Amino acid sequence: MDLSDVNGFTEPQAEAESDAGAYEALIQFLYQAPIGLLQTTLDGDITLANPMAAQLLLPLAPDCALLNLFDVLLQVAPQLRTLAAAAPYPGGDVCDGLRLHTGPAKATGSMAKAPTTLSLRVQRLGADQLMCSVNDISAAVQLEQQRLDAGVRDASRIDNLTALPNRSAVLEHIEHALQRARIDPTFGFAVLFINADRFNRVNVTRGPTAGDELLRRMAARISGAVRPRDAVGHNTDPVCTAARLGMDEFVVVLEAVQRAQVATAVAQRLVDTLAKPYRMGEAAVHSTASVGVVLCGDSAANADAVLQDASLAMREAKRAGGSRHCLFEGGMRERARRSAHLEAELRLALQEGQLFVVYQPITHLCTHLSTHAANHKANDKANPAGGVAGVEALVRWQHPVRGLVPPMEFIEMAESSGLITPLGRFVLRSACQQFAQWQGQLGAKAPQMLSVNLSRAQLGESDLVETVRAALQDTAMAAAQLQLEITESLAAADPAIQARLHELKALGVMLALDDFGTGYSSLSSLHQWPVDVIKIDRSFVSQVTSSAHHRVLVEATVRVARSLGMGTVAEGVETTEQAQALRALHCDKAQGYLYAKPLRAEEATRWLSAYSEPSTAQTEATELPTSLAVAN
Ligand code: C2E
Ligand code: CA
Ligand code: CA
Repeated sequence: MDLSDVNGFTEPQAEAESDAGAYEALIQFLYQAPIGLLQTTLDGDITLANPMAAQLLLPLAPDCALLNLFDVLLQVAPQLRTLAAAAPYPGGDVCDGLRLHTGPAKATGSMAKAPTTLSLRVQRLGADQLMCSVNDISAAVQLEQQRLDAGVRDASRIDNLTALPNRSAVLEHIEHALQRARIDPTFGFAVLFINADRFNRVNVTRGPTAGDELLRRMAARISGAVRPRDAVGHNTDPVCTAARLGMDEFVVVLEAVQRAQVATAVAQRLVDTLAKPYRMGEAAVHSTASVGVVLCGDSAANADAVLQDASLAMREAKRAGGSRHCLFEGGMRERARRSAHLEAELRLALQEGQLFVVYQPITHLCTHLSTHAANHKANDKANPAGGVAGVEALVRWQHPVRGLVPPMEFIEMAESSGLITPLGRFVLRSACQQFAQWQGQLGAKAPQMLSVNLSRAQLGESDLVETVRAALQDTAMAAAQLQLEITESLAAADPAIQARLHELKALGVMLALDDFGTGYSSLSSLHQWPVDVIKIDRSFVSQVTSSAHHRVLVEATVRVARSLGMGTVAEGVETTEQAQALRALHCDKAQGYLYAKPLRAEEATRWLSAYSEPSTAQTEATELPTSLAVAN
């Protein structure tokens, strides 16, 4: 068709138009309009079309024949003919904004970019007249698609729970920072790795919903703490990005940081803000966090390695007691490597029987029976000498190369790796068997109480009570003869731990609070513990003769324990003076090098048979049998 025929397009208006100039202007406007305009019969035969309509529709026209609109659009809108016939007139819509996908852009000679999507509007003007407008919306559709894609990508980079960037987003961010540091030596940045201390306790005791809520609150506090200060506070913060890696792990990236002090100041602020109680409904939840800080300038590193370093520093902060920050230094990698190696070795040690148990005697200090001891007459009746009260079982590792490894070097690792479960069972079983053997072997001189250490992780084991019951049953040991030592640092307020302790008590075993004075609980909270015995830590005992302050603390501990019906054991007694001072303060029992170091089973047997004489009941080390090898 002749595109210049567009004049006819505006004929009805032209007749009504008296002003020839205005008419001409309108024609020009329609001719140059950036949208395609057509007029067709009801059958689709094109009667009028402007150049833009031809440009947009020609690529769709078979054989480049722009004669009938329905034929041209047959492939992309086959329904048009039927719709047109059914549309009311005048002015009824056949279609409005119908998207015509013309497929991938074809190379069409001079046209650099053929449209890929058209939008079509068709109105029925009369019985045999259709008016059509057609737009190229390819660019808009492309933009929309880009926005959609970006949306999907963003969603995959955002943590659902906290709405912070997630692991992949922060890894990418660190990677960019590393690239920038490589080309710009003046650019430095820091990565802070944040981990809640004992988050699992909240999850277990208050349920996962509360756990999630705590994580959301932590996220909000982290974001708040690293936001640039307002006008009143000094805005000294570098550019910060907070992200959540997963579980209770968060990361903050501080950009343009050269000095460690800037990074550690932000880290300490995070520690402080995360340690404030979280109000949840009626309850105040106490939670703290540890932060590892790594300063980046190492061009060889990748983002994973940076996070790894920061998490090593975080673990050091936890090891130092938690609720603090720690700056990464190179030696930590070596320590971590050694720890992983040690774990593999301990696993092997358990299988190959390199572990064994040593026994340290616990002796009575006072000649009279304590309130507590009177409550446990079975002990005193069976051990009328009043000398040896019992023994504490302590684990040892005979390493094939390193020799004797003390528990301080592997208990913590056993706890964090889960090896504490088989290790704890091994100690309990071995000690109960030895205890039973002594009963037959030593008769009245056999110890009447066996004390076994339980680590925090063991108290979380669901089958702990069953394990203890089975060990007692298999060795025919009375439950009252077994004492389990738990450390004071286990928060007394933890309901799950409390429940486990009560289950153990119901079994009939005794409980002792180990290392009292070093942890969090105070004398005023002693009543919360369902324990029978308080073991006063060596750090107090060692100063009982030299410091009035420590003497008063020991005395107060003994008094409060007695008032609660609990017994007391002084740990680490090394001198006769200490023993005398403790006796004067009415401490019930003592344990320490003054009496005996931890002894291998056969040495302990000899010590027990020599020591448990009525006449030596209150003697100290000067009168002990000599030449007893120790396994400390
Ligand atoms: P603990 O339960 O407080 O054990 C007492 C520690 O003090 C023992 O160290 C013992 O050898 C040491 N000791 C005893 N008397 C004296 C003394 O007069 N002076 C000095 N300087 N030290 C004394 P050990 O055997 O190295 O055990 C260290 C810690 O390892 C224990 O502290 C306990 O917390 C843990 N542990 C030991 N064996 C086990 C076990 O079988 N299971 C668990 N879970 N932990 C254990
Ligand atoms: Ca202990
Ligand atoms: Ca202790």
